[in-house]
Amino acid sequence: MKDIKDINTPCYVCEEELLENNLKILDYVQQQSGAKVILALKGFAMHSTFDLVSRYLKGCTASGLHEARLAYEEFKKHNSDAEVHTYSPAYKEDDLREIAKISDHIVFNSPSQLFKYADMVKEINPDVHLSLRINPEVSSSPKDIYNPCGIYSRLGTTLANFDERVLEYVDSLNFHALCEQQVDALEEVLVAFEEKFSKYFKNLKHINFGGGHHITKKGYDVEKLIKIIKDFREKYGVEVYLEPGEAVGWECGYLVASVLDTFKNGIDVAILDTSAEAHMPDTLAMPYRAMVRDSGEAGEKKYTYRFGGNTCLAGDIMGDYSFDEPLKAGDKVIFEDQIHYTFVKNTTFNGIKLPSLAIKRKNGDIEVVKEFGYTDYRDRLS
Ligand SMILES: *Cc1c(COP(=O)(O)O)cnc(C)c1O
Repeated sequence: MKDIKDINTPCYVCEEELLENNLKILDYVQQQSGAKVILALKGFAMHSTFDLVSRYLKGCTASGLHEARLAYEEFKKHNSDAEVHTYSPAYKEDDLREIAKISDHIVFNSPSQLFKYADMVKEINPDVHLSLRINPEVSSSPKDIYNPCGIYSRLGTTLANFDERVLEYVDSLNFHALCEQQVDALEEVLVAFEEKFSKYFKNLKHINFGGGHHITKKGYDVEKLIKIIKDFREKYGVEVYLEPGEAVGWECGYLVASVLDTFKNGIDVAILDTSAEAHMPDTLAMPYRAMVRDSGEAGEKKYTYRFGGNTCLAGDIMGDYSFDEPLKAGDKVIFEDQIHYTFVKNTTFNGIKLPSLAIKRKNGDIEVVKEFGYTDYRDRLS
């Protein structure tokens, strides 16, 4: 189908051309800086696009066994050189045995986990690269819930907790300290990271700068990022990795929903066949207001509605939006930029149907690649 009007809602539509534009920017960073960019599956894991993604990115970073398997089975099949990097805040032995078989890099969160499992992992996979995640204790992350370097953080090893004996095992160090940030924020983190840890870089092969780099957002200083990476590589003779999630899926598609009902209760209310809680979780967690195509702020256009989800949670509200014409049941509503951190987090809360997944091809065809139904709900519950 070609027309959004014909889509059965709710449905996420990933636009291949926009996704590829992001990938081209990331590839430019790779080409110019010599860094390798890998996809953080936590933010975007629509594997029906991996044929395309794997033409540009060098692999995936996984947060545990399931993501590592997805990287190994669904990404690597398109690109046999693709790398699988796995990091978990802590590993269970059974999972790690499987992870070791399919990962090229394994990142530990603490010296204690590294000492506990390094020999086991090396025995299973002698070629695996080991790394420790560092907490540089500097971050200008805008929200505490997304700040890996906040007070009492469990993510990464601080200098005080660093144990030099890890250097007998690792050939890499990782940090991940940013969230939706510009290159200046990376610069600040690097100052602290180098100040504290560069004395340990001597025998290292790789440094991983984590994710949170808003590289594909308009206005991001890509040239400055390239310079920082080049300087760092030259200074220390190491290979640099970036592992963005959001920057891959940034502004490359939307969520289409339908109006089911409208009525007045002090203000005009519209109920949609989607849910902020179940389908757009970051709008409540961050929180932020998703943009809706052809709408304005409350009161900006003639007809304003409060958009609510089709669940029984009172707070399942997307926000207030205004339109030139009144809305009626059956109208389509398009939430912009709903491809990253959406369907990877969806739930079947309240039994609400999971949105379908579609890809808009370069020729304009919208192809539904996955639909969900009752059994997806039922089978998760017993
Ligand atoms: C979440 C995460 C990423 C990706 O972050 P984005 O903000 O999506 O770029 C990369 N590395 C680690 C360790 C993460 O936890």
